Amino acid sequence: MDGFFYCPHYPRGKVKSFRRVCGCRKPQPGMVLQAARRFGVDLSRSYAVGDKRDDLLLAENAGLRRGLLARTGNGKRTEKEMTARERRKFPVVSNLYQAARWILKDSKKIHFHHGDTEGTEKEF
Ligand SMILES: [Zn+2]
Repeated sequence: MDGFFYCPHYPRGKVKSFRRVCGCRKPQPGMVLQAARRFGVDLSRSYAVGDKRDDLLLAENAGLRRGLLARTGNGKRTEKEMTARERRKFPVVSNLYQAARWILKDSKKIHFHHGDTEGTEKEF
């Protein structure tokens, strides 16, 4: 693990100095953008795995390649609550292991030319 980011703010929090709406609280992409800057991460080739709708919306808001829902924690409940659009957009997997397998398979579709930083889609 290279970094750990958290948001101390809560719009309805008890501690006045942390009580605000901010850009880092999920699904706002602030923390992802901060991490991407610090570690030079290409967000268009990055994935988010989570168990809540905010995790999926975070992936979308940060311009990630894909957000995945895992059926762990709150995942099963979230899956039931997903809209048709969300079901089309966000793959649902059983657990983190399956998420890793999905991501590995998907990442092979990103084809890179020499000197290319963006990559183009390639179906096999
Ligand atoms: Zn925050």
